[in-house]
Amino acid sequence: MPSTPQDNIENADLQWQESGAPYSTRFDDIYFSSGGGLDETEHVFLAGNQLQPRWSARDQALAATTAPSTEHFTIAELGFGTGLNFLCCWRAWQQLAPQHLRLHYIACEKYPLQIDALRQALLEWPELEALSEALLEVYPDHSAGFHRLHLPGLADAAAITLDLYYGDATQTLAAQAERSTARVDAWFLDGFAPRVNPKMWSEDLLAQIARLSRNGSTLSTYSVAGQVVRGLRSAGFEVEKVKGFGQKRQMLVGHYPQEARPPSPVGLPKRSWLNLAAQASRPPQVIVIGAGLAGCSTAHSLARKGYRVLVLEQADSIAAGASGNRQAVLQCRLSNALNGTRQFNLQAFLYATGEFARLNQDYPEVNWQACGVMNLDTAFSARKERCVDVDLSDYSPRIAQRLDQHATSEVAGLDVDGPSNYLSLGGWLSPAQLCHAYLAHPNIELRCNAKVQRLERDDHAWHVYAHDRELACAPTVVIANSISATQLEQSAPLPIVPIRGQVSYLQATASTANIAGVICGQSYISPALDGLHSVGASYSKNISDLALSEKEHQQNIEGIAPHLTKGAVNADAIAGGRVSVRATTGDRMPIVGPVPDFAAFETLYSALGQRERKHPNTHMPYVDGLYVSVGHGSHGLSNAPLCGEYLASIIANEMLPLQSKVLECIHPGRFFLRELKRRDYSR
Ligand code: SAM
Repeated sequence: MPSTPQDNIENADLQWQESGAPYSTRFDDIYFSSGGGLDETEHVFLAGNQLQPRWSARDQALAATTAPSTEHFTIAELGFGTGLNFLCCWRAWQQLAPQHLRLHYIACEKYPLQIDALRQALLEWPELEALSEALLEVYPDHSAGFHRLHLPGLADAAAITLDLYYGDATQTLAAQAERSTARVDAWFLDGFAPRVNPKMWSEDLLAQIARLSRNGSTLSTYSVAGQVVRGLRSAGFEVEKVKGFGQKRQMLVGHYPQEARPPSPVGLPKRSWLNLAAQASRPPQVIVIGAGLAGCSTAHSLARKGYRVLVLEQADSIAAGASGNRQAVLQCRLSNALNGTRQFNLQAFLYATGEFARLNQDYPEVNWQACGVMNLDTAFSARKERCVDVDLSDYSPRIAQRLDQHATSEVAGLDVDGPSNYLSLGGWLSPAQLCHAYLAHPNIELRCNAKVQRLERDDHAWHVYAHDRELACAPTVVIANSISATQLEQSAPLPIVPIRGQVSYLQATASTANIAGVICGQSYISPALDGLHSVGASYSKNISDLALSEKEHQQNIEGIAPHLTKGAVNADAIAGGRVSVRATTGDRMPIVGPVPDFAAFETLYSALGQRERKHPNTHMPYVDGLYVSVGHGSHGLSNAPLCGEYLASIIANEMLPLQSKVLECIHPGRFFLRELKRRDYSR
């Protein structure tokens, strides 16, 4: 299947003007007017949307309430370009430093600048240097799709969330409006002039903007073209021309009226069964069940958004299950199927690399080693999923590269027996320490030896019980306890398959001590940590016996040793290992999102006619205030950070970090929907 622009990225085509400002040759237009610069951005976009007074008013109102605040203010920009508008906005946010409000900035961009071009463009603004550097540190220029980035709080201001939606603005916004009920507070319309880029002002796009606008949402743009004014009015906005910046006579400001009718959907999506429900406003307390990677990452994302989180763990310490190995490997599952699964795997991998680098700064014991991961062709040639068959031209070389045998050996630090697919951003860390770092947030309380056996809901909250003893209650609960989720009534129908996995700890030899990156064959071998490599991990359906198995030790070693320099591995030098049970799923994707009300859905679905079952005008019913993140298999390290952030975004009713085709792949109702569709309703 050929790549579509939506899947592969096209970077900006630039020329540099004499003034040093970037110019788009594709659109024959400027990114910003070099005469106006920062002052013009402040006038058109910041003042045009009255951002500072609105932030101050909201912050003061929130300060007056006693409850902890989870409120956020969302800005969406059409055309991220050089990020100048974003940086100015960030600077204004820093200066005001609201204490009770968070800032979420979303920008759509179809042709992102390459990072070197961005660096050069931003040289023009030395006054923004510190912010520009922080942006450049996390800026992705290499992959289409959504990128959620967390930018640090400098001075007194809180950290902010930046979502870059790479792809066509109309498509990405339409997909957001379909699935999510979150709405935008202010719009920066900055998509080149309508004369050269009519698509950024089309009726369809303006309708999506209206759909995603909160009542009272504002917008501004420098364009006063008749087409723009008419288009915005017909989408439901009230607009007026006001004084432009400097010599410019006019610009446009507008707002979506408080009393405006909700814009009608532009056609229901085919798979609207998998929409998310509108989020009721609930007190900001959440119970997370399970202190493995899935639970800890979710707790962290919620805490960062202002929620008070109680984490309940049945064991006497955190990361007691599959998340507790000495070393865990981060890599990306590559594929050429241009679908939501591939996009999820890539996005989750990239998000994880950013999170690990960020957390490692404050918690060096996380020991994040971005040493790279090699997948050897030779080792995979016998398997169905042959990494040698993946066409890496679908990926940026920043993500995946072909290395010949010599180059692989160089990077590996010892001789290997063939070429590889190399993920330079991959690596390993200590997963238990990562869990500790996640839970170190002051909004999180951890309670171990707390085995949840039953959940009951009353009108306001979930009550969580161990036998008949109530452990805690909260309006929202996240089930993140891996295979134990099937023991809770509400999540019991989730089709989780337990798989035993054993890691072997292998003493380093003089040769293997040189291993500098993770090498994957049928088994992987990590660089040594305190003289021991992790080699693994086995797959076995036999979960009745969780003792270490000599046979699985040997399988682990045989899966990698023959591909390394002869005699490098001393197969007799196994110094123990660890067995845990992974929770896997039939489609190898995790189960993350709101918990469906399976019984209500079955009743609803069975009563429908054939056409309505295919094209529903209703959504899957969910259990109120109950969410799940399980089924991560052996990919918990790459999945968990983004899945935690996704769940926290749903709970906080924020714009989501996942496109709709991606969230469908991890939706907790997908298996049940498939099962119902297969039933015979003709009788
Ligand atoms: N706001 C930017 C800044 O602060 O530098 C300047 C934006 S520039 C005037 C317009 C941007 O819109 C360009 O970066 C361009 O690539 C992007 N763009 C053009 N057509 C688009 C589309 N259909 N979807 C998303 N972005 C698009």
